[in-house]
Amino acid sequence: MSGQRIVQIAENFYVILRGWFNANHILLTGPETVLIDTGHARDQRQTVQLLELAGTPPHTLDRILITHAHQDHIGGAPMLYTQSGATLLGHRWLGYAIANRQSDWLGPVWTPETPLPPIHGLADGERVPLGQYTFQVIHVPGHAFEMIALYEPTKRILLSADAAHDGDLGVLAPEMEGIGCVPQALESVERLARLDANVMIPSHGFPIMGREAIASSLQRIHRRLCQFLEQPEKRMRHLARRVFLYQVLLHQPISEDELRHHTLALRWFLSYGEQLGYTPDAFFNDLLATLSERGLIVRRPEDGLLESPVPM
Ligand SMILES: [Zn+2]
Repeated sequence: MSGQRIVQIAENFYVILRGWFNANHILLTGPETVLIDTGHARDQRQTVQLLELAGTPPHTLDRILITHAHQDHIGGAPMLYTQSGATLLGHRWLGYAIANRQSDWLGPVWTPETPLPPIHGLADGERVPLGQYTFQVIHVPGHAFEMIALYEPTKRILLSADAAHDGDLGVLAPEMEGIGCVPQALESVERLARLDANVMIPSHGFPIMGREAIASSLQRIHRRLCQFLEQPEKRMRHLARRVFLYQVLLHQPISEDELRHHTLALRWFLSYGEQLGYTPDAFFNDLLATLSERGLIVRRPEDGLLESPVPM
């Protein structure tokens, strides 16, 4: 359980902090129990433990909302749905996304053994009651075309999903989402900035408190996205670093040779390396050095295996 915490945000409103690999969960209790996002399929036992720790074991869930169909958000949903029979909610294109994206860099987005239940589709601008609160649905495409953020206007709480982390955002992959994904992400951040939220809870990282901190965080993301538009290689490096680190998190502790083997088997990795003018090996070495310098990958002194200290 180290590095994981349950933080109360308001009455009957909690965030279960996960980390880099699994998306945070939002838990709304009171008149009903609603879970927003479900973690990675691989870590679903931990998800169950955390829900038990919060006093809401899987069978007590009434509704499950998925912000978007990426493995770290939707991976636990088939299991939680099976155990609870909860209604599933998401953007009205969530079902289409699940059916057509099929897998992302983390694995299949829906477990094929579990038939996909009907999804209660939400549209941009719609108001949706969840627990004792009423949220405004904000469509924030870019990172994923079906992604939604949620805003609770009385307490000014924004659930920003992967559209905005603290000064950063979820990867942008035109290969998967089309070339429009970068300008869309920029517009999504502009929409979030206009809300003037007082608490912003991203899907990865800690809640950001206060209007000024949120505004400056969103400005940093905005600047970054402007750079991505003008210098596409910055976006490519951003994505390559993330995918590389995910490989470490998936397989750690891992030898350098094995990590090389896994990353060089990734189609995008090779094509990004080529577009940036690297040979595959040089690209691997460059990313390993960059991430090691930033302290995101460390070599264990006892056996030389690589692992990451970032919370899962
Ligand atoms: Zn995502």
